[in-house]
Amino acid sequence: MALIVQKYGGTSVGTTERIEKVAEKLIATREAGHDVVVVVSAMSGETNRLIELAKAINPRPPARELDVLVSTGEQVTIALLAMALEKRGCPARSYTGAQVRILTDSAYSKARIQDIDAKAIRKDLSEGRVVVVAGFQGVDETGAITTLGRGGSDTTAVALAAALKADECQIYTDVDGVYTTDPRVVDKARRLDRITFEEMLELASLGSKVLQIRAVEFAGKYQVPLRVLSTFEEGPGTLITLEEDNMEEPLISGIAFNRDEAKITVLGVPDKPGIAWTILGAVADANIEVDMIVQNISTEGLTDFTFTVHTNDYDRALEIVQKTATEMGAREVLGNSKIGKISLVGVGMRSHAGVASKMFRTLADEGINIQMISTSEIKISAVVEEKYLELGVRALHTAFGLDREEGTA
Ligand code: ADP
Ligand code: ASP
Ligand code: MG
Repeated sequence: MALIVQKYGGTSVGTTERIEKVAEKLIATREAGHDVVVVVSAMSGETNRLIELAKAINPRPPARELDVLVSTGEQVTIALLAMALEKRGCPARSYTGAQVRILTDSAYSKARIQDIDAKAIRKDLSEGRVVVVAGFQGVDETGAITTLGRGGSDTTAVALAAALKADECQIYTDVDGVYTTDPRVVDKARRLDRITFEEMLELASLGSKVLQIRAVEFAGKYQVPLRVLSTFEEGPGTLITLEEDNMEEPLISGIAFNRDEAKITVLGVPDKPGIAWTILGAVADANIEVDMIVQNISTEGLTDFTFTVHTNDYDRALEIVQKTATEMGAREVLGNSKIGKISLVGVGMRSHAGVASKMFRTLADEGINIQMISTSEIKISAVVEEKYLELGVRALHTAFGLDREEGTA
């Protein structure tokens, strides 16, 4: 008998009919002889709806109250799912994050899990219940409700699996696994049977929202066997695994892309020590995270400095940089939020050269100009004009041999 943590995302619990279907799947897992803890998201669209409600009252809602509000989405689903289980004669009990005591820090809307008290859950399991836990939420040490960031139910599931030492954590969603790229954008995307934690971490952090990045971090750290599967069809899904020695790795495992970045350029900055610190220090002081950074070589004592931030922070960052630039005597500040980032990810890159040049040639052949580049051991990212993002992803998907053969899934 195994202990399995299953997580069902928003689409999978999007209607009462679907919640009933999830109840049936859980009962089937139990009948196969397993103990199950299930984590659910809010019904699809609900979290967005709640955020809109808040914004209708206050465009910048107090962070504490926003978390109180958005955490209610998951509370609805746990109760409905527990009812659907009980109706079928399956004993079940629902828990909010605070009731379990999923202890987090106090960083509202992006809290990190610090500790999970698994006692009540273990007791319920030993008494034959299915335990239904609200994803995406926790409680800080003062008792305030916190949430874990968009997509955070994945992290709740993995953290519970780690705390309970579950045999597997299964993420049920609306696609049947992790694909070479988003299958909703590239119809030739191919499902992967397996992918390493390291690659999945890069894909998640570079824009593939199939798993929340913190869930992958947690699974890697605590070695939780993690699988992504479809709620709606049978199949093996994708297993997230450790990298194995002497396994032939493909050059590229996947392509991530991201429209949520904006670029800020400071032109004509006097080139002297401390430029990066002066510009980025002011941005960091405002709690804005910076992603890519490029500083040009200087000509005649002047240089240009470019960096990217999340589009949500763009207006604020631009305002701050305009002020700093004036103080520094820079010539001009330019901003562009119509950019996109394409990233190739693969552990195979470690042992093969030539990925970058092939990427750049492929984009050039499509007439796509590269605005910024950044690399690490297992990824290469390029910033391009947003309108060419999907074209670029498709071209690279084909060029790196990732396209699915006709007639296969
Ligand atoms: P859930 O509500 O179940 O958490 P999400 O919408 O958060 O589901 O994540 C699933 C979605 O992730 C898919 O519908 C798909 O469009 C998107 N996605 C992005 N990149 C990938 C990828 N590489 N493989 C699979 N799905 C991806
Ligand atoms: N309901 C939350 C969201 O929409 C958490 C999740 O679904 O994982 O982001
Ligand atoms: Mg999700």
